[in-house]
Amino acid sequence: MDAGLKRELEAKVYAGERLTREDGVALYDSDDLAWLGKLAHHQRTEMNGDRVMFNVNRHLNLTNVCSASCAYCSFQRKPGEKDAYTMRIDEAVRKAKEMEDEQLTELHIVNGLHPTLPWRYYPKVLRELKAALPNVKLKCFTATEVQWFEKISGLPASEILDELMDAGLESLTGGGAEIFDWEVRQHIVDHACHWEDWSRIHRLAHEKGMKTPATMLYGHIEERRHRVDHVMRLRELQDETGGFAVFIPLRYQHDFVDSKDGKVRNRIQERTTMAAPAESLKTFAVSRLMFDNVPHVKCFWVMHGLSVAQLSLNFGVDDLDGSVVEYKITHDADSYGTPTTMHRDDLLNLIWDAGFQPVERNTRYEVVREYDKAPSLADRRSEPQQVWA
Ligand code: SF4
Repeated sequence: MDAGLKRELEAKVYAGERLTREDGVALYDSDDLAWLGKLAHHQRTEMNGDRVMFNVNRHLNLTNVCSASCAYCSFQRKPGEKDAYTMRIDEAVRKAKEMEDEQLTELHIVNGLHPTLPWRYYPKVLRELKAALPNVKLKCFTATEVQWFEKISGLPASEILDELMDAGLESLTGGGAEIFDWEVRQHIVDHACHWEDWSRIHRLAHEKGMKTPATMLYGHIEERRHRVDHVMRLRELQDETGGFAVFIPLRYQHDFVDSKDGKVRNRIQERTTMAAPAESLKTFAVSRLMFDNVPHVKCFWVMHGLSVAQLSLNFGVDDLDGSVVEYKITHDADSYGTPTTMHRDDLLNLIWDAGFQPVERNTRYEVVREYDKAPSLADRRSEPQQVWA
């Protein structure tokens, strides 16, 4: 990037001016990672100070049986396949109850598009989970799943959302977004929910008062311009609804061999590697700089490892997810040694160790608890530092 363009972009960021699509592509083209981090950190500090939000949540996947076969997905199984499972409602409740310790505040539930489970199963399972765990917020289902419910029930999304909300749904999840540009999407996504339906369903959820997350799966066959396009679409929708609470860049997991049955399910594996940490930090930074209207950017540490998660806090990220005991979707795809368990204390130490102030939040990004600021560098020097995986 030439010095003139660099100065121009810098001036725009410090003046709080909105960046254009061309600016986004130019930022990705820059190889000055420290400079990008500086700009993104300025923006994150303007928006969120030195706070890092986190919530104490658990992930639950009711079924891994799926009618679709997305090219990158190692989670899905076909009916009858070894390891295919579907939880009965009482099983789901029992499993959720086992996770209740540590003042859990959120259950995150996403699932395969099961070919024969009836629509009635889904509101019923939410009702019973809510009855068993009244203080836990239910963040459930991707827009893709909601569109699937339309298909299996014959009901419009509006009625589906009303019924799910009546049963205890607090928020949709942000998945199913992947990369919206059809040039890429047609090669990786195998279900019928694309930008038109994804945005329709989140718009509806926002109209009904929900705050929802938005995700982007990066680091596979897309180019950087597709990432910028993805963010531009979401930014426009956010101008209209204001309903996105957070943007979550999800790092595509290169699937070596499934640890359970030795199979490789990822059909784009031969054409892909995986985003290097520097590329992930760049993606966090450019996302933070482009999204002047979405309050938070999240790092889902399970996909990055803890060291990159800490570094990401200096590249625009102000939200860490989560305190996960078990996360099947990524761990079915990886053999990278990311830990499967993190508890509240681990997260607090991780955030303090990176020099930030932890703030516990709920599903709607309301503050549940403020914690002390990070100890000063002078104090920290007198103690041995943590070494993170
Ligand atoms: S990504 Fe979701 S919809 Fe696609 S195959 Fe996997 S579980 Fe099914």
